[in-house]
Amino acid sequence: MKFCSTCGATVALRIPAGDSRSRFICDGCETIHYQNPRIVTGCLATWEDRVLLCRRAIEPRRGYWTLPAGYLENGETAEDGAIRETWEEASARVAVDDLYTLFSLPHISQVYMFFRGRLLVPEYAAGEESEEVGLFRHDEIPWNALAFPVVKETLEHYFADRESQHFPVRNRSIIISRPPGARF
Ligand SMILES: [Zn+2]
Repeated sequence: MKFCSTCGATVALRIPAGDSRSRFICDGCETIHYQNPRIVTGCLATWEDRVLLCRRAIEPRRGYWTLPAGYLENGETAEDGAIRETWEEASARVAVDDLYTLFSLPHISQVYMFFRGRLLVPEYAAGEESEEVGLFRHDEIPWNALAFPVVKETLEHYFADRESQHFPVRNRSIIISRPPGARF
């Protein structure tokens, strides 16, 4: 950040009184611009014994398969965000059940959350950010072409838990140490 989004003056990175971290503080109006992690919300949506996957049409990981997910919007619940992303990326209408996986990724300042959901009708089509969308049985999942570790882990839990029909919430932190001088 270089300029204040409130008044347009320059900002400087310094520690506010009573704080312990550096923040962007406006040189003009003294607004403190806090920056916090972003939330990615998504859906593991099923129809009968199949799971809905999207092949990404955008970077990062273009051409790889993912569960529909994206950044939560202001004023939106996490569940509604998962429903919206499934509609935008896969043109599929879903009802959302419980939260299923929660991943903290502090190295990129993101929190991923996936809900379990059910397609209301078995209709889907590629949205703007997808090249292709499909329903996959367990033995059809493109395990070697999944976009992100959080997607792979969520699918692995799902197929294991499906045996018992018991789907506890999985909460995991993915800690990747930051090499000196790296951007993340
Ligand atoms: Zn300002």
